[in-house]
Amino acid sequence: MSKELLKVEGLQTFFTIKKGFPNPVTHTVRAVDEISFHINRGESFGLVGESGCGKSTAGRSILRLVEPHGGQVHLSGQDVLAMDKDQLREMRRKMQIIFQDPYSALNPRQTIGKILAEPLHVHRLGTKGEIRDRVFALLKEVGLPPEAANKYPHEFSGGQKQRVGIARALLFEPELIIADEPVSALDVSIQSQVLALMQGLQETHNLSFLFISHDLAVVRYFCSRVAVMYLGKIVEQGPVKQVFDEPLHPYTKVLRGASPIPDPTLSKKMLRMEGEVPSPLDPPTGCHFHPRCPDVMEVCKNQYPSAISVDSERTVACHLYSQKQG
Ligand code: SF4
Repeated sequence: MSKELLKVEGLQTFFTIKKGFPNPVTHTVRAVDEISFHINRGESFGLVGESGCGKSTAGRSILRLVEPHGGQVHLSGQDVLAMDKDQLREMRRKMQIIFQDPYSALNPRQTIGKILAEPLHVHRLGTKGEIRDRVFALLKEVGLPPEAANKYPHEFSGGQKQRVGIARALLFEPELIIADEPVSALDVSIQSQVLALMQGLQETHNLSFLFISHDLAVVRYFCSRVAVMYLGKIVEQGPVKQVFDEPLHPYTKVLRGASPIPDPTLSKKMLRMEGEVPSPLDPPTGCHFHPRCPDVMEVCKNQYPSAISVDSERTVACHLYSQKQG
């Protein structure tokens, strides 16, 4: 069996929106613009960036909750974007999602027991008794008591709801979980409990995670490799420790400076983030980061830099490095 579980190549997802009054003009937003990465079995891969950079759309595109416009997604060698409805339904059992707000994903009129049992009944995965046992086993696995099965979502705290979300993601014994800001809405003390739970489950079930977050400290704790996104594109990727401790891309450097990681051994001389994220409706020409970049050069204003392999594990898309290579 190949060690690579998910391979994403040149993935593109665009949205069209109309803006302006009284004569609206159609704009194309390149929410995800030719991104490529892979995730190995049992690995946690982080996707980080500021709000609106396209990281959540990338996760949803991989699951085809939104339809991509181009590129390729392979799960265990199977072409996800070529799948018909039935194949897609089957594939989604192997690839599940955890949302930031678990409450919005839980039916408020159903008990947790029913919420967890229903998909198993629909897929005829056991007798009534077997499904009941499976629900109790799942609750136990995520640290909830058996009585939780009789309660409604509003009776749980944020952390407990996320535990239910995790139990639901585990129903079909997936290989990959796309976790979209799974702890962002939780208090810091609860965050660490939920992350520890996810780590434990990862080991027990040999799960892989695509961990989407704006929080570098959380990604550093949970992931082994990371890709940094800016306005729909991946600007740098590699092992978490290298990318965060010795960032190459100017955007990673300012992102790192804006999100201090609690590690006294790291340099405090980090750059500050200047300006706002440009509108994805009208991204800057050339390198999208050039209006905010402290290292901007003339070439950056006209030409988008290609991704360059720095070593076998690390890539960066920045003219500073293409010039060094050239
Ligand atoms: Fe800065 Fe130019 Fe690199 Fe973009 S390509 S990050 S503008 S140096």
